Amino acid sequence: MDGHGRIHNFGAGPAVLPLEVVNIVSSSMANLNGSGFGLLEVSHRSSFFQEVIDSAMNRVRRILSVPDDYHVLFLQGGASTQFYMTALNLLDDGSKADFLITGGWSQKALKEGRRVGDCASIWDGSESGFKTVPRNGEYEVRDGSDYVHYTSNNTLFGTQYHHTPDTGGVKLVVDASSDICGAPIDVSAHDVIYAGAQKNLGPSGVTLVILSPWAVSRIGGDLPTMLDYRTHISKGSMFNTPNTFGIFVLDKVLEWVEENGGLEGAIKRNMHKASLLYRELDRTSFWVPHADPGSRSNMNVTWRLRDQEMESVFLEEADKKGFGGLKGHRSVGGIRASLYNGCPLESVEALVDFMRGFESIHG
Ligand SMILES: *Cc1c(COP(=O)(O)O)cnc(C)c1O
Repeated sequence: MDGHGRIHNFGAGPAVLPLEVVNIVSSSMANLNGSGFGLLEVSHRSSFFQEVIDSAMNRVRRILSVPDDYHVLFLQGGASTQFYMTALNLLDDGSKADFLITGGWSQKALKEGRRVGDCASIWDGSESGFKTVPRNGEYEVRDGSDYVHYTSNNTLFGTQYHHTPDTGGVKLVVDASSDICGAPIDVSAHDVIYAGAQKNLGPSGVTLVILSPWAVSRIGGDLPTMLDYRTHISKGSMFNTPNTFGIFVLDKVLEWVEENGGLEGAIKRNMHKASLLYRELDRTSFWVPHADPGSRSNMNVTWRLRDQEMESVFLEEADKKGFGGLKGHRSVGGIRASLYNGCPLESVEALVDFMRGFESIHG
């Protein structure tokens, strides 16, 4: 714990942010960048805020190597709105999309897609408890399918793709909410990328959306204004009042990422944190990791205790020792540690120490 009384926060989202960023945000509350306007009190139409949103968009472009002809948007409504919005903009009567179902979030995306067009699951890991993501060749894209949708990191189950799914040239749409800017991604291989900010990028209430020219060319007809990507492209994400606070924090988080080695640096730190924890989970059969080794997530690590009755004791003791947010999602149970960009190495080292101590007493 540091001087602010902060705990080791392993929550799945909204999640821990770098303390440096939190401090900058606090000091901007009364006066944003010397403008005299407080951060919560500044107009989105002011030059002060225009600088913030321009900076945030440029950082996204730099960090993720976004091709120049792609669009970067900051929307509201969370990744959950994108489940529907993506399908609404990309599909019309008679078009099809295929979904790789690797957990609760992909199931929800499919459900919303089905409201719009012919959407189908072409791979579903539910029967094996969502312990893996599919390997190339384990699914077949339907003839005439317009795109394949996948979830790059499965926040609930703790699995992650470590490759771009092969679709045989069919376009790719990805929900990257829980590993965006924390894991490798080839933006140019995708046509829509969307991500709620509250895991790796900042606070809740901002959704990053990246669109290829192909995605934009698909949009036709008269869509509801706020659900039409063209509305937000033409107004630079300021057709209506954006989440000014959220975009400011996102810009500061991405500044922190850039100052700490960019995407490469973030990937390295996240892999290192995850490997420390997986090494402990593999050390003894006291712990039972959920994900199969080839599909393990570096962002959300999920496990059970061999003796599941002991899990509540583990969580209680962890809580007393200053570890928060470790309770697994109700669909998996057990323990989950989220190790997003903002989670410091020291927190993971402290958790592993605590786990060793717990195992030596109860194992
Ligand atoms: C958290 C999460 C969501 C939901 O995001 P909201 O912004 O709350 O709608 C969707 N997909 C994934 C992969 C997530 O981790």
